[in-house]
Amino acid sequence: MNHLDKLEAQSVYILREAYREFKNICMLWSIGKDSTVLLWLARKAFFGHVPIPLVHIDTHYKIPEMIHYRDELARQWRLTMIYGENKEALDGGRTFPDGKTDRISCCQALKTEALKNTLSGEWSRYILDLETGQYRPDGNREKYTGVIVGVRADEEGSRSKERYFSPRDQENDWDVGDQPPEFWNQFKTDFAPGTHIRIHPLLDWTELNVWEYIQREKIPVTSLYFDQGEGKRYRSLGCYPCTLPVESPARNVEEIIEELRSGKFANIAERSGRAQDKDDGGGLETLRRGGYM
Ligand code: SF4
Repeated sequence: MNHLDKLEAQSVYILREAYREFKNICMLWSIGKDSTVLLWLARKAFFGHVPIPLVHIDTHYKIPEMIHYRDELARQWRLTMIYGENKEALDGGRTFPDGKTDRISCCQALKTEALKNTLSGEWSRYILDLETGQYRPDGNREKYTGVIVGVRADEEGSRSKERYFSPRDQENDWDVGDQPPEFWNQFKTDFAPGTHIRIHPLLDWTELNVWEYIQREKIPVTSLYFDQGEGKRYRSLGCYPCTLPVESPARNVEEIIEELRSGKFANIAERSGRAQDKDDGGGLETLRRGGYM
């Protein structure tokens, strides 16, 4: 087994454990490379069919190409695709791009609050009709008690403190100092009733591993990751008012791998183009303790 085979086997195992152990779980799909690899692994784990609903929290400030890519792939792979949003904040213009709040409050409203209420079923969810390609209100408002997320420990500081199976309280809050140990890959999967669980099958993957796997498996990713002739590309995707591309001439997966192996980004954080990280003190711990993805 090479290193990618080992990572794949571990992630597939976690996904199958999660599906077996927890009722009403969903998988977050941010449309970025990591959660798309996670989706690919789920297709492998369940032999081509993904039995877990995909949930996207739509801030309505995502780069339009991301949404187009999401719906194209969802139709092609016959996914149960659901999105949630903070309609009240959007309708009231209580967002950073509208100039009525700062970035942290905007992320808390459009991402954290939207996620919490979408998962609980308290706010409307919208499901993709695979025949028409249109979204309609989802009649199922049952609470998702577990969520599978494509975070990686090497991505930024607070993520390195995660567990594979990480309990959150009823409010989705994360007590970083009180988590079960996972020595020798022994995972705790029995939690008190009402515990919300986050499952992280990609915790041990690096940015380079993700691109190597995308190359090996020929996983389709959005072209935003590639230089379109301006010497810039996105290294991490997010809302367009808060996400900047990096200087890079990489035009395809092979050139990204070459660039990462060269050490060009060794001292530049993967999320350096994400303005909300800087506003949260250079990391994401404040936001993530409150439920941010
Ligand atoms: S990334 Fe920017 S636009 Fe998106 S939710 Fe956060 S502050 Fe708002």
